[in-house]
Amino acid sequence: MENHPFQTEVRQLLDIVIHAFYSDREVFVRELVSNASDALEKLRLKQLTTSSVYQPERELRISIETDEEGKTLAIADAGIGMTREEVVEYLGTIAHSGTKKFLEAAKESGDAKDLIGQFGVGFYSVFMAADKVEVTTRSWQPEAAPVRWVSDGQEGYELEAAPDDTPRGTRILIRLKEDAADFAKPERLRYVLGKYSNFVGFPIDFNGEHLNTVQAIWMKNKKEVTEEEYTGFYQFIAHTDSKPLTHMHFSAEAPIVLNSVLFVPEQNPEMMGFGRTEPEVSLYCHKVLIDSKPEKLLPEWLRFLSGVVDSEDLPLNISREMLQDHSLLHKISGIITKRFLKHLADLAKSEADTYEKFWRQFGRFIKEGVVTCWEHKEALGKLLRFESTFTEAGKLTSFEDYVSRMKENQKDIYVLYGASRAQLEDSPYLDALKARGFEVCFFTEGGDPFVIDSLMKFGEKDIKSIDRANLDLPPLDNEAPDAPSLEEASAKSLTDWVGGLFKERFSKVSISDRVSSAPAMALQGEHDLSPEVKAYLRAMGQEVPETHPEIAFNPRHPIVLKLAELQQSDAETAQLLATQLIDTALLRAGLLDNPADLAENSQRLLEKLLTK
Ligand code: ADP
Ligand code: MG
Repeated sequence: MENHPFQTEVRQLLDIVIHAFYSDREVFVRELVSNASDALEKLRLKQLTTSSVYQPERELRISIETDEEGKTLAIADAGIGMTREEVVEYLGTIAHSGTKKFLEAAKESGDAKDLIGQFGVGFYSVFMAADKVEVTTRSWQPEAAPVRWVSDGQEGYELEAAPDDTPRGTRILIRLKEDAADFAKPERLRYVLGKYSNFVGFPIDFNGEHLNTVQAIWMKNKKEVTEEEYTGFYQFIAHTDSKPLTHMHFSAEAPIVLNSVLFVPEQNPEMMGFGRTEPEVSLYCHKVLIDSKPEKLLPEWLRFLSGVVDSEDLPLNISREMLQDHSLLHKISGIITKRFLKHLADLAKSEADTYEKFWRQFGRFIKEGVVTCWEHKEALGKLLRFESTFTEAGKLTSFEDYVSRMKENQKDIYVLYGASRAQLEDSPYLDALKARGFEVCFFTEGGDPFVIDSLMKFGEKDIKSIDRANLDLPPLDNEAPDAPSLEEASAKSLTDWVGGLFKERFSKVSISDRVSSAPAMALQGEHDLSPEVKAYLRAMGQEVPETHPEIAFNPRHPIVLKLAELQQSDAETAQLLATQLIDTALLRAGLLDNPADLAENSQRLLEKLLTK
C-alpha cells in the first residue's frame, strides 16, 4: 500500500466541496453516473477502432447498488477503466476543466459554494456525501493490473493492488456520511437518478433491476420530445441544475446526414468570472461518441453552446488530429452555424423577451462573430441590439427596426460610439442628425467600433459613424434659426487664420452647420481609425498612422463670434481661445492625445483674460 498526498488545488477544492450547501449534495450522483457513462462511451469507441480490449464480451452497462443498513452506495461501470498511472493522474489532481475554473472563481469570490449545483465539479463532489471512497478499477488494456484507490477526502489517498479477478471497468464504493445516509435509501436514489437516467446512453441496473430506457434524444423526431426531456438532457450533459435559455433541435438528410440538439445556458459563465468558456458540444457518429470536445466543430464565437452533433457520414476510426482538418467538419460547422443563426432570428421574432435575455448574456459572442466570421456577417448583423436616440434608456432596437424608421431623404444608417448613453446624448455630433429627424444608434461597448467596421453595411445601407467629416447629409428644409451668424468675410478670415496657425495638425478648418450646440467640433476622415481602434493598436505595440481631423466652427455660437472679433483686435488672446475651442473639441472626440495641453492652455487663457 502506498500513501499519496493530494495536489494542493484538490485539497482546496475538497475544502469547498465538503462544506457545500446541503441542497447541492445530490449532484455527486450525477457526476459519478456521468463519469461512468463517459468511460463506457470511450470503451465503445475503443472496441470499434482497436482489436484487443480486455474482456470484450463484458456488457456495456452501469450498475448501481444501495445498502441502507451498511450506509453505502456503489456505482460500477464496465467502461474503459484506469491504469495505475491514470488513477494517480485523474484522481489526485484536477482533470475536469470546469473544476479548475470553478476553483479559480471560488478563490476570487470566496462564495462559490452556491455555484456547485450550477456547474458540476466532477469526481471530487463525491466527498460532499462520503466519509470514505474506494475506487477499484481495471483498464481496458489487457496487460494493465487492477488497482484500488481509497480516500477520506482529507489529505490524500492510498493506492494498492486490487484482486486479480477485478473485472474491466470501475467500481466506486461510497461510505456515506451520517447526515447523507439517505442516499443509501432506494427511494431517494431512484428519485435522483430519475432526473437523468433516460439520457444516459447505456443501460443502468439499480439494485438488480433495469432502470432506464436508453434513447438518443437528438435522433428522435422533435415532435416526440417534451420540454422536460430537453431540460433533463441538458442538465445531465451540462452538469447543471439550471434550465437552458433556449434549445435548437435540428435534423438534415442532405447534403450531410445530421442530427443535433444544441442548448444555450441561462447565464454566460464568462460574465461570472469563470474564464474563457470551452465548447461543450460533443461529436457523435450514429450514437457513438467520437469526441466530447472536438476542436473546430463550431466557430469560436459559438463556444457558449452545449449539446450534441451526430453525423453518420463521419468515419469512426479517425484520430483527433485528422478530425480537425476533415473537410466534413467544416461543412458540418457551416450548416449548424447557419441553422443556429436562423434559430436566433426566429427566437427574436417569436419570443422577444427570451431573445433580449439572450442578448444581454451572450450579445458579446454575436459581436465576436461579426468580427471573425465574414460568411455569416449578414445574419449576425440582424441579431445585434443597441439603444438609439429613438429608444428610451435601457430599451433596445435592431438595425431592421432602424431601417423601417428611416426618413425618406435618409441614405445611410448612423452610429455613434462612446462610453455611455448619457455621454452620447450630450454629443455635438448629434446636432445635425437631430435637426433632420434622423435616428442615431448608440454603441457603448469597447469593441463596438471593430464590430461596426467589420459590418460596414446592413442590407443595402451603409453604416456611417457621425463623427466623420463626409456625412453627406441632405440640406435642411427649414432654415436655421435667425440667431446672428458670422459674416462670410469674417468666416473666411477666421478659418484661413486658424488653418494657418495649425497647418500641421488639421486637414481642414471650416465653418459648418453640422454643429449647433458647441462652438466647434472635430470631424474625422472617412478612413481614419477610430480612437478606440487606435488605442487598441497602440496597446498591441503597433504603429498607429497619424490622422489629421477637420475642425468645424459653429458660425452662430457667441464664443465663435467673439473669436472672430478678437482675431482682428487681439491676436494673442484669439490664439489662446482658438486653441482652447479646438482642444476641447478634440477631447470630446477622443482625439486629444495629451489632455495636459488643454489644461495648460486654459490656464494661460484665464490668466490673460482675468489679469488684463
Ligand atoms: P471529467 O469527467 O470532466 O474529466 P471528473 O473529475 O469527473 O472530470 O473525472 C476526472 C477523470 O477521472 C476523468 O476524466 C476520467 O479520466 C477519470 N474517471 C473518473 N471516473 C471514471 C470512471 N468511472 N472510469 C474511468 N475513468 C474515470
Ligand atoms: Mg466527470
